[in-house]
Amino acid sequence: MRLDAISCQLVDLAPRPLQPGVLYVSQRYKVAVHLCACGCGEKVVTPLSPAEWQVRVQGGLASLHPSIGNWSMACRSHYWIRNGRIVWSKAISKRQMEQVFERDRKDIEHQQLRNRIPASMGWVRRIWRYFFGD
Ligand SMILES: [Zn+2]
Repeated sequence: MRLDAISCQLVDLAPRPLQPGVLYVSQRYKVAVHLCACGCGEKVVTPLSPAEWQVRVQGGLASLHPSIGNWSMACRSHYWIRNGRIVWSKAISKRQMEQVFERDRKDIEHQQLRNRIPASMGWVRRIWRYFFGD
């Protein structure tokens, strides 16, 4: 059964077995893990780093960026985790999935590039923000 919500637990190590509907976040090991929200039982491991996934926990609700695309798994699930909710994308083809990943990757590169601009170059940041937003 597809979930539409996921709770969040901050852990050192994820327990075994994992419970469905829980995103386990280990800051220590820089990884988040959960069972695929479609209910297929597959474990989804998302390394946390600027180049991979970023997790944000606010008021006990997690958001994960970029999206989860389990197209290497049988279910081919694709969803976002936003403020503790599962936002399902429509069933899409592998090609479309790759485009989504490409876009996510560009987003991340864009962010990294912006973060590399030193604070002393505030005017570059302002121009950047003007053209590209935050
Ligand atoms: Zn699944």
